[in-house]
Amino acid sequence: MSFADEQAIRERLLADGHSEASTVGDVAVINTCCVTNEAVAKSRQAAARAARTHARVIVTGCAANLSTHAFAGLPDNVRVIARRSEDLADAVSADVGAIGCIQADHRLDRVRAFVRIQDGCSFSCSFCVIPLVRGATRSRSAIAVLDEISRRAAQGHKEVVLTGVNLGCFRDREAGLTLAGLIRAAGAIDGLERLRLSSIEVNHVTPDLIAAMRETSVVSRHLHVPLQSGDDDVLRAMGRRYTIGQYRARIEPLDDFNLTTDAIVGFPTEDERAFGNTMAAVAAVGISKVHVFPYSPRPGTRTAGDDPVSRQVKTDRSARLRAASDAACRARWSTRVGSRDVVLVDRPGLGYADDYTPWLVDAPIGALVPAEAIGVADEGVLAVVAA
Ligand code: SF4
Repeated sequence: MSFADEQAIRERLLADGHSEASTVGDVAVINTCCVTNEAVAKSRQAAARAARTHARVIVTGCAANLSTHAFAGLPDNVRVIARRSEDLADAVSADVGAIGCIQADHRLDRVRAFVRIQDGCSFSCSFCVIPLVRGATRSRSAIAVLDEISRRAAQGHKEVVLTGVNLGCFRDREAGLTLAGLIRAAGAIDGLERLRLSSIEVNHVTPDLIAAMRETSVVSRHLHVPLQSGDDDVLRAMGRRYTIGQYRARIEPLDDFNLTTDAIVGFPTEDERAFGNTMAAVAAVGISKVHVFPYSPRPGTRTAGDDPVSRQVKTDRSARLRAASDAACRARWSTRVGSRDVVLVDRPGLGYADDYTPWLVDAPIGALVPAEAIGVADEGVLAVVAA
């Protein structure tokens, strides 16, 4: 979602006639995160650093929306703009000011575009600050989303990522479309080469969604489904809406997909047995990459006052879960050796196959190249461009 917000700000400033500086410019926009205490601290450090080298610094994003207090005491050239994401690009544009020459064709990074279909969340997970900073769920119209996907494809973006805080809540009641219908409609857009979902709650992984993903040829065989914990008692205390058995049942039909997830370690009610259940669940479900978040109490949430698990225990559990994730990734990569796939190269020597596994291949950035897997390295599948 932050990528989508940044993309909107960049595009708006380019349309206003500004240009991007590769190192230091006149204005820096720092788009912040508040998912953990550490994220807020890093956001503040970034704003302070930028204030030393730029005439003006604008601070946006979730940490700005949560509390301007986090940025108190920074130099006078730092300005915090707290806005809903829909209004953010306009607010930054008004603050920076347009310059005379309006650019007709403002092209962004051509490889991948993030298209927001929905924002906000009306769930109430006990640890989560996102509903406070992004508000209740609301959807863009399907026509606006499909128009933007067409525009991105015409601009040369090879991959579009459908993005939202709670993607499965997307509804366009007038058009009669849910996420599954939107995927089918997007699949018919000329020039779209690859479509991916950013992340989806397991309750929204329905048979209809799976059918839509399978029958739409441009959809990647990858799904990111937050787990958070593999222990039913912890899931209940977190206010999640599933048991681990329900999670497994929903995911089971996707056994050929690359499954990735988020997990929180050191949640207040997580003891060693509960953490062991998370380790076991990750292995049993067949998840590859786990994004591990040590629990961090967030202001305004139901667990804001609870943080009994020590830092050392969180660090230790995080390391164990990351090691299991690394091993699971390597195991999945090994199964690809000898196979072919189409790789979207997005940085020097690295791209992503259709199932969003990283492939190390030497090809121009932005190219979609057929590749053959010849081995495994620490960073991903070793591959060569195939004839
Ligand atoms: S963690 Fe829960 S409350 Fe937070 S955005 Fe996800 S579903 Fe919504």
